[in-house]
Amino acid sequence: MAEAVLIDGRVLAPALKARVAEAVAVLKSKYNLTPGLGVVLVGNDPASEVYVRNKHQATLEAGMNSFEYKMPATSTQAEVLAKVAELNANPAIHGFLVQFPVPAHISQQAVIDAIDPVKDADGLHPLNAGRLASGLPAMVPATPEGCVLMARHASGGNLAGKHAVIIGRSNLVGKPVAQLLLNENCTVTIAHSRSTDLPSIARQADILVAAVGRPLMVKGDWIKPGAIVIDVGINRVDAPDKGEGKTRLVGDVDFASAKLVAGAITPVPGGVGLMTVACLMRNAVIAACRQHGVEVPPNL
Ligand code: NAD
Repeated sequence: MAEAVLIDGRVLAPALKARVAEAVAVLKSKYNLTPGLGVVLVGNDPASEVYVRNKHQATLEAGMNSFEYKMPATSTQAEVLAKVAELNANPAIHGFLVQFPVPAHISQQAVIDAIDPVKDADGLHPLNAGRLASGLPAMVPATPEGCVLMARHASGGNLAGKHAVIIGRSNLVGKPVAQLLLNENCTVTIAHSRSTDLPSIARQADILVAAVGRPLMVKGDWIKPGAIVIDVGINRVDAPDKGEGKTRLVGDVDFASAKLVAGAITPVPGGVGLMTVACLMRNAVIAACRQHGVEVPPNL
């Protein structure tokens, strides 16, 4: 059997960013509206700093306004909530997020609850989760949205009737992916740490989404021949072959064995992770349109 087709974030993410830039140009010329995306970073987690820098650059490249707020790790919860209130009230910012994880003395849920749901670029507010579950227009979490765009692309556009198995049930990834795939008319199974005989559940999947955080957990013999495999996991592991103390990023799927069985598969790195930033920018554009009562430009 031929090797799986690569679902390439290095192709799909720039294409989505280009569509975002086109939409921004339309909003500027037609309505004098420049969508603005804000990010609040508390502390100096190195991975978060890289991610925030990437978002900032991509947002500016799309012609949007980018707002970055760095707060010290010693910031109190009240200070962070005050910053959230400030961004809620700033009309130039149409969507924003607080980068997680925040330092342990700050309640992540309190921060999520304080964000105005219409500006909730990461779609984590319970109101948006509920609207998504009810099939209503919602702000949708960026990574799950990226997963579904990639699955749709790999299937030629129609996911209806396919059996999707999602491994992982977090509010950030697993649950919203399941809701989105249900909205695509998939038959959806959610598996998790207490599921028994995970390999046999996974083998039923026409679309397998791994969002676990366990390096290389999903092996080739867990995959139904021809399935679409979306690997959300980002795990840093030791790579002594690259030299002492070196590391590399791997997904939750054992790519080497999986690509021999799957019909299409996302790589790590170069897969879902690249779609996340593009989807976040798309969310900010959609939020700007809703807040100004204008139509979302086509093809976004
Ligand atoms: P999480 O830790 O919140 O959730 C992990 C889920 O996996 C849980 O629901 C748990 O039930 C399940 N799980 C844990 N061990 C399991 C096991 N042995 N068998 C079956 N299920 C098991 O993590 P998360 O925030 O959902 O993230 C998952 C992964 O996705 C992580 O590697 C994270 O780094 C990555 N991630 C990537 C992006 C991206 O942009 N690509 C964005 C968010 C998260």
